[in-house]
Amino acid sequence: GGADLDCDMLVLGAGPGGYSAAFRAADLGMKVVLVERYATLGGVCLNVGCIPSKALLHVAAVMDEASHFESLGVTFGKPTIDRPKLKAHKDKVVGKLTGGLSAMAKMRKVTVVRGVGAFLDPYHLSVEETTGATGQEKTGKKQTVKFKNCIIAAGSQAVHLPFMPKDPRVVDSTGALELAGDPKRMLILGGGIIGLEMGTVYSTLGARLDVVEMLDGLMQGADRDLVKVWQKMNAPRFDNIMLKTKTVGAEATKDGILVKFEGEQAPKEPQLYDVVLQAVGRSPNGKKIGADKAGVTVTDRGFIPVDIQMRTNVPHIFAIGDIVGQPMLAHKAVHEAHVAAEAAAGEKSAFNARVIPSVAYTDPEVAWVGLTEDQAKAEGIAIKKGHFPWTASGRAIANTRDEGFTKLLFDAQTHRILGGGIVGTHAGDMIGEVALAIEMGADEVDIGKTIHPHPTLGESIGMAAEIAHGTCTDVP
Ligand code: FAD
Repeated sequence: GGADLDCDMLVLGAGPGGYSAAFRAADLGMKVVLVERYATLGGVCLNVGCIPSKALLHVAAVMDEASHFESLGVTFGKPTIDRPKLKAHKDKVVGKLTGGLSAMAKMRKVTVVRGVGAFLDPYHLSVEETTGATGQEKTGKKQTVKFKNCIIAAGSQAVHLPFMPKDPRVVDSTGALELAGDPKRMLILGGGIIGLEMGTVYSTLGARLDVVEMLDGLMQGADRDLVKVWQKMNAPRFDNIMLKTKTVGAEATKDGILVKFEGEQAPKEPQLYDVVLQAVGRSPNGKKIGADKAGVTVTDRGFIPVDIQMRTNVPHIFAIGDIVGQPMLAHKAVHEAHVAAEAAAGEKSAFNARVIPSVAYTDPEVAWVGLTEDQAKAEGIAIKKGHFPWTASGRAIANTRDEGFTKLLFDAQTHRILGGGIVGTHAGDMIGEVALAIEMGADEVDIGKTIHPHPTLGESIGMAAEIAHGTCTDVP
């Protein structure tokens, strides 16, 4: 059939995966069409994820820090919070970045088509125009895009529990980022990174928190010793941390959302909350794009299987980002995007990252990469550990933030680094060095003999390596 537009490369979805793929494909000389339902580019990460959450977390961290200054001889007044203004600040941060993406798309002559895309066959996508910020409304206008190659980057959506009432007081992360209302009591459903980050923001703005988690600990995936430091510092925010417990029902009442629990640490009575944040995971959008019409395989859960070049079972169609699997992280999506675009251009690129770092941007931050100690134990991997407590870091003490630590895990035989974890302020900014060391196959001497600037928190990485090697003179 006829097409309204025709291109070498169609990219479906303009999140970190999609825009990175589109830009790389354009740089490689392809004529690119980028299809996106949102009003702006940037996907979940820039519009309703990584960036707006960090804009709010920064404000929360400064407020928390200031509240501890009395003992240092500095007293600030009690903060007053203008929520509309705070929200406007967050929106401005997002706008700067998404606006920047639009300019970059223009510069590269990437054609952005606004609307919801669905495959018609392996070479055509139908796009129905949308309006509104997140493109929930459709105008009915349709066009067909013909493509030679395609990269699916349609991302994921928050999981909503079926028994949760449809009520403005029940929100997912997107709703929580809107900062509506001024909850005094808030329930976080799911003890993962997204829930705990948003909980940190609301708690600093005045909410008491409860958190419920089905598994036996918060921040799954991170070593327990890292999480313990965060948990101890953050205990005052919580009334109730309910582990091995789940919600089994909820009811919207005049006074709040009444939630029922079941499990090991379930309260006997249903609990009343001003706001309930659903943060129980994200599900991939694989089943919502007509993939079957293109012959692209989608798993029962909605993921799209791909090979090492990010190719689906259909050779000219690639998939990247949250839609291809865990970990659902922006930096993973970006790297996969470059591989897919380059592979489509005939290059020999492949996605073979040894490790992908994870960061909880809580206060303190928790960051880890590669092998964890819990994993090493479970799999019987012989490791040598270097553990550097920040009570021995001049900078951490000067910052009055010495609760953290840095640990590195080395192969007991080869002494090469296998993994690392950091808990403390700016842990997320430091974990990249550990990732680099792993990618380079560095050993404890390489890291320990690398001169780090003093006094920095980053020194703790060199020290941890020296501790593993037995040559550290700075720790008693
Ligand atoms: P997405 O960003 O989900 O983008 C997919 C895009 O496709 C969307 O814009 C969507 O509108 C569009 N789309 C989907 N279907 C269609 C269709 N049929 N037609 C047209 N368009 C369509 N990750 C980190 O690495 N660091 C963080 O700090 C971090 N914080 C987060 C905080 C929150 C609150 C949330 C929710 C997520 C966070 N993430 C973070 C995860 C991160 O946002 C995702 O991993 C990342 O956005 C995935 O990128 P993507 O390109 O695969 O998909």
